Amino acid sequence: DGQQLYRDTWAEINVDAIVYNMREMCKLLPDETKAFAAVKANGYGHGAVQTARAVLKGGAHGLLVAFLDEALELRRAGLTAPILVLGYTRAEDAGVAAKEDISLTVYQYDWLQKAETFIPGESRLSVHIKCDTGMNRIGIKEPSELSLMEDFIEASSSYYFQGIYTHFATADQIEEQYYQQQLARFRAFLGMLKTLPPYVHAANSAATLYHHDSLFNAIRVGIALYGLSPSPEIKPYLPFEGREAFSLHTKIIHIKKLSAGETIGYGATYTAEENEWIATIPIGYADGWLRHLQGFQVIADDEWAPIVGRICMDQTMIKLPRYMPIGTNVTLIGEQCGKKISVDHVAEKLNTINYEVTCMISHRVPRIYL
Ligand code: PLP
Repeated sequence: DGQQLYRDTWAEINVDAIVYNMREMCKLLPDETKAFAAVKANGYGHGAVQTARAVLKGGAHGLLVAFLDEALELRRAGLTAPILVLGYTRAEDAGVAAKEDISLTVYQYDWLQKAETFIPGESRLSVHIKCDTGMNRIGIKEPSELSLMEDFIEASSSYYFQGIYTHFATADQIEEQYYQQQLARFRAFLGMLKTLPPYVHAANSAATLYHHDSLFNAIRVGIALYGLSPSPEIKPYLPFEGREAFSLHTKIIHIKKLSAGETIGYGATYTAEENEWIATIPIGYADGWLRHLQGFQVIADDEWAPIVGRICMDQTMIKLPRYMPIGTNVTLIGEQCGKKISVDHVAEKLNTINYEVTCMISHRVPRIYL
């Protein structure tokens, strides 16, 4: 946004990659199936508004966020596309959602009764009923509750019954017994309805790309739009190779030669075995570059360079195979000089999932849009 930056540490977001991934996703869908794109959590760390614009350009029908504040951020940025809040909203805030034409997820009969009193007479709140088919997070568990809620919504002038959905717990696994059980439960819920609402949705990225049998007439996709696989397990079977949109960069700010026996950083955990070129880069755990990444190899100029010593709050030391000047480019995620570090590599080193990696790079790291 034109803001001057004074530190050479930044994330680059490849907007075209997001547009491409969204387009490829849409190509796989039957004509009647609309795509809602998950841009919650600041677009999985890629930036909510910029990601939202990219997915809409790529063919997304609507946007998904976790809570009302995230939806309002998109509306304030001028986005008029359908938005669904996936998580809980206080009944007291139903009027705000109705006024801004933001759809809410509902799964408690009492909530419908209470929220109705907060919805101004001239407006209607669009709601999607969430069915819990096995995730045991949020949603109604009993099909009988669904009938009560449907009747209440249809009888009320404050609500519009816009959608019904569920969420899979194991769609990213090859073993599909639990997934099929959830799908069957969801169909049982649908069978209870007097009328199907306009949107019926269940599939996340994994179900869309791997299982194909739960598309209904809308999907909710997130991770695949960022060019990442829902899991390493199904990655070999995905119908298109996503383009990774996120990369992370910095520059060398100091370099010196250590003698054999000298140590590096807090706790003096690394000891030089010989005379070694050690550089410092201005990124640390306060940027989300976690201490557990000690030992991970980054790319300095055209060379692999391991992180040596403990990662500090704002700085990290790396070992170079040769002298490099101040200002040399260092890539921590992404490509440089023919070498590549994917988000999955970082996730593997941290014993976590790629979703967590892009989310964990903190707000202190500016996102630059290419
Ligand atoms: N639907 C719900 C309810 C979610 O919570 C999420 C993300 O966690 C998604 C859809 C998108 O999932 P994915 O990023 O795996 O495609």
